[in-house]
Amino acid sequence: MRGVPILMYHQVSSHPLPGFEKYTVAPRAFAAQMRWLARAGYVSVSIDALLAARAGGPALPHRAVVITFDDGFAEAVEHAAPVLQALGMTAVFFLVAGLMGGTSAWLRAERGIELPLIDWGTARELCATGFICGAHSVSHPRLAELPSAARRDELRRSRAMLEGGLGRRVDHLAYPYGSYDAEVRVAAADAGFRSACSVRIGLSGPDDDALALHRVPVTGGDGLADFICRVRTGRAAGELLQRKALGAWRALRSLIAADAG
Ligand SMILES: [Zn+2]
Repeated sequence: MRGVPILMYHQVSSHPLPGFEKYTVAPRAFAAQMRWLARAGYVSVSIDALLAARAGGPALPHRAVVITFDDGFAEAVEHAAPVLQALGMTAVFFLVAGLMGGTSAWLRAERGIELPLIDWGTARELCATGFICGAHSVSHPRLAELPSAARRDELRRSRAMLEGGLGRRVDHLAYPYGSYDAEVRVAAADAGFRSACSVRIGLSGPDDDALALHRVPVTGGDGLADFICRVRTGRAAGELLQRKALGAWRALRSLIAADAG
């Protein structure tokens, strides 16, 4: 099975807040990206379908893509959901269970910005229209930096709150800030999560760790060519070139070192 891009979005808005540009994709750019996926034959699948295929269940479409949104920003849902629905695509929204209907308090503390988050009614509507809601903790902490009892509580309680509020199973998690370690991973499994998305960059290959899935970030400055490169390779063109150039330079340097020696 080929590597599957698990796309990671945060905000979709035409008014990126200062300091949050990287995490904000313009609505027009988002729509163009989704139209390109559809034209290129990509089929959006759920994380459940991905896990099932990897466990020997039904194979994924030839070109599968998983679309994820972290944080549950109201404007991201407002812009993205209609585009996805019109194209028959699905997505996972990872929600901060303790801040439903509120604002992104963690961003206020870290960046001095505050964005509205969707409420329970909107989350239930998303589920009713075929989208999937996953957990993104209770309060958006760096889980790997919390004491053991607190991280377990964040994980267990976020799942319970979301299952209660949505009236359906919540099996998937995204670690806030991608912060996890071996213990957090075990705590996620103990809390009953079947998968957890990390922010390790790359396509999700057949042996990817279900509790630390690789993702492909889509960032605010990306043109369509960057987006296509990310979907195909996991990285933007500039990053790929940098890595190639660095590799070539290292090879050259060791040749020179050998000559000099
Ligand atoms: Zn987050």
